[in-house]
Amino acid sequence: MLDNFGRKIDYVRISVTDRCDLRCKYCMPESNPNFYKKEEILDINKLKLISESLIDLGIRKFRITGGEPLVRKDIVEYIEFLSKKLSEKVIDEILLTTNGTQLKKYSKTLSDLGVKRVNVSLDSLIKEKFNFITNGGNIKSVFDGIESAKENKLSIKINTVLLKNFNDDELLEIMKWCSHNSFTLSFIEVMPVGDMLSSRKSQYFSVNKAKEIICKDFDLEQSSLKSSGPSNYFYCKKLNLFVGFISPISDHFCATCNRLRITSNGKVYPCLGDNNSVDLTPFIRDNDIPSLLNALKKVIFMKPEKHYFNIDEKSYIHKRFMNTTGG
Ligand code: SAM
Ligand code: SF4
Repeated sequence: MLDNFGRKIDYVRISVTDRCDLRCKYCMPESNPNFYKKEEILDINKLKLISESLIDLGIRKFRITGGEPLVRKDIVEYIEFLSKKLSEKVIDEILLTTNGTQLKKYSKTLSDLGVKRVNVSLDSLIKEKFNFITNGGNIKSVFDGIESAKENKLSIKINTVLLKNFNDDELLEIMKWCSHNSFTLSFIEVMPVGDMLSSRKSQYFSVNKAKEIICKDFDLEQSSLKSSGPSNYFYCKKLNLFVGFISPISDHFCATCNRLRITSNGKVYPCLGDNNSVDLTPFIRDNDIPSLLNALKKVIFMKPEKHYFNIDEKSYIHKRFMNTTGG
């Protein structure tokens, strides 16, 4: 396994599509998402080839993300491929980040293929607010999906992006709902990715402010719980709930970052907050595995010590929206 600044890089987040059935206001451009052309998106064989190379380099955890990964037509074939790697014990975990709308259709398959945990992104429990933030989404499809995931014994973590004047009044309700359903929860600070810095800045609500609100009603004890991601977990005894806080802006977690990111058009990014990337597609096209491996190694060494997200400055990740890199 390769390392960088003492960090063992064993985790990849692989975006299998930039398409999505929702249009969350902090993730995609407000109009004209400008998706990659179909022919630019890695086909299943290319996805498998990159994944094989990542495994050769010691990557043990695969998180499938997007866009919405479950809208990709051949997604099951890719998960079957990873599932085989899981049975061969060359990887440890297959994880999925989803908006939940397709879970009713896919939960059983996911569970049968060895997926144990899914992260479901949900920023409000109120149907009108959900519809607003997702630009037209129907919360019922998410609730139905979550129900199906529960029935199929998938463990569920809810990811909620903290959004000022949107869900800062709903944090306690979301915590109670997660507790009632035995879900884990993470609150995430909005990141200045994409073109609309002014919107990001007006949306930003810090983890510390969220904790202040929560601690008026509930005590939070620091917990030693660790997940594959950057959440700093606390335990809320009153609710018997683990709640994580992801603070890319107010307190970055780069010292423990163990991941690479592959975009659905075959670029590899060493860091979400970095404009540098390496295009893997020429090596895939030529089936040049040694060069593919070298390119991946190079990106691991390029991984910056930390990102420089600053919600007050013009975003330097201005051309790339979250749905293209995969959050
Ligand atoms: N469609 C799936 C979903 O919503 O979970 C997977 C892709 S989405 C890009 C992955 C995660 O990124 C979601 O939890 C989403 O809330 C988060 N995300 C998107 N844009 C973000 C931003 N600007 N700041 C922080 N998180 C963001
Ligand atoms: Fe789609 Fe996920 Fe982005 Fe929302 S956050 S638009 S669900 S990719």
